Amino acid sequence: MKRLCFVLSTLLITCSLAFSQSNPTVNPGGGGIEHSTSQNKCLSGSQRAFIKKQLEENIQQLKAASLLKTNTNPEIVSFDFPLQKTAALDYSNFYGVSNYVDHDATAGIVDYKCNARSYNGHQGTDFFTWPFPWYSYENNLVEVISAAAGTIVFKQDGQFDQNCQWNNQNQWNAIYVQHADGSVAWYGHLKSNSLTTKDIGSSIAQGEYIGVVASSGMSDNAHLHFEVRDDAGNLIDPYQGNCNNLNSDSWWQTQLPYNQMRINAALTHSAPPVHDCPAANEVTNFNNNFIVGETVYVGAYYKDQTVGQTATYTIRRPDLSVWDTWNQNFQQNFNASWWWWPRDLPEEGPFGTWRFDIELNGETVIHSFEYLETNLPIELTSFTASLTKQNTTLLDWQTASETNNSGFEIEHSIDGTSWEKIGFVEGHNIADKYSHIHQNPQRGVNYYRLRQIDTNGDFEYSKTVSVEVNRNNTISIYPNPTKDKINIIGTENQPINIKIYNSTGILAADFTSNESEIDIRHLASGLYIISIQLDKLISVQKIVKN
Ligand SMILES: [Zn+2]
Repeated sequence: MKRLCFVLSTLLITCSLAFSQSNPTVNPGGGGIEHSTSQNKCLSGSQRAFIKKQLEENIQQLKAASLLKTNTNPEIVSFDFPLQKTAALDYSNFYGVSNYVDHDATAGIVDYKCNARSYNGHQGTDFFTWPFPWYSYENNLVEVISAAAGTIVFKQDGQFDQNCQWNNQNQWNAIYVQHADGSVAWYGHLKSNSLTTKDIGSSIAQGEYIGVVASSGMSDNAHLHFEVRDDAGNLIDPYQGNCNNLNSDSWWQTQLPYNQMRINAALTHSAPPVHDCPAANEVTNFNNNFIVGETVYVGAYYKDQTVGQTATYTIRRPDLSVWDTWNQNFQQNFNASWWWWPRDLPEEGPFGTWRFDIELNGETVIHSFEYLETNLPIELTSFTASLTKQNTTLLDWQTASETNNSGFEIEHSIDGTSWEKIGFVEGHNIADKYSHIHQNPQRGVNYYRLRQIDTNGDFEYSKTVSVEVNRNNTISIYPNPTKDKINIIGTENQPINIKIYNSTGILAADFTSNESEIDIRHLASGLYIISIQLDKLISVQKIVKN
């Protein structure tokens, strides 16, 4: 669907002085993505043949069972947009189009607008999620919804969904919906096990949930392939245009513009974000809370970046006065682009809720972030987070002075925005070293901060630190050897099946648990083989019971 084609070198501010006036404008870091015109395919010939055969068989069976009526409404169906974001996704726009239907039957490429925004032989429209498609994928933030009412006539599920290259032959996860006029919409590349639980033969309403956008099948990033066929199986392009030689009318209730530069999001980060595939290689570095001495990276995200357009960026103090403003003139066309600038806020404040605004073509997108003072009654000289061999997080901090310090609440977050208290450590009221272990960090990036509380109830937050837990689906156990219990790391309190075999292969225990700590006092001393199953992941390890 896309390829990275351009990355500007980043210019970092090396001077850490706080400016009382605006920072000088520096060149941004960032880049763009344009759709690929290489010989890619969303479906192979054999996959397509398999789907067509299944659709024919299912439709015949459903008709025989009186579960499917066709041509009850010979009107052309009218599609709603097939994607929606959940309330938890704080973007103003969340997708772009990489490929339309190819109308050139030969080796050339012609989309409905007589341009070449497609690839040779493409039979659908590809909508990619943007920015941070893997963050949206992992948190189920962009949903595929039924463009029109109909009946589910075929489903494919359970396939790997984090592909980063087109050249694989995996099946995709998909749902196929037949409408009252006999036409069928294909929704492909969905997230495994995200599909609606409705069975084949069930009716589905317009706008009803279908699944989550992912990268299953032949795909190089998270996107929806939306394909439409009429009741005779002929390809339809839902977009009306001069070079659409399949059908003359638009099938959309509202046909969206072919190419329109829009702001998808204004965001703030603790460090430059990394856009890469799959999920483990994408680093959001989202941060909305900054203290003196931390650099704010303001980020701008666009779809359809267009040469000649100009965006205006403004950073506003809590009273909305302008602290810094600058323009960006776009020099290149991109399907999707991202740009970021480092800024050091004034050391003396003002403190409170600041804003980063982006203005483009009369539209303004606002992002708020907190700038907090750091004059804690305690003086933190360090606060670090590190991952242990057991995949737990070790938090260490040190104070240079303490007065009236009740203690430290330890807070954890997986998105850098919503926080949960995971522990409390009492203050020593004398300069000291502290540590705390978080037993169950989640796969991916884990954020931590300290909420230091005074004896009078006042509190201050520390800076935010993070660790990334390896996402290679590893399950580990400790301690080994052990006397009375084992701790399981990497299952995040999800239900797991545990089988314990003795050294002669006889099953000594077989049970399901969602605890991370397992009591094995009842087992005799000796060598055991432990098999832990989480979904399709099975980990087998030897352990010695003393
Ligand atoms: Zn496609």
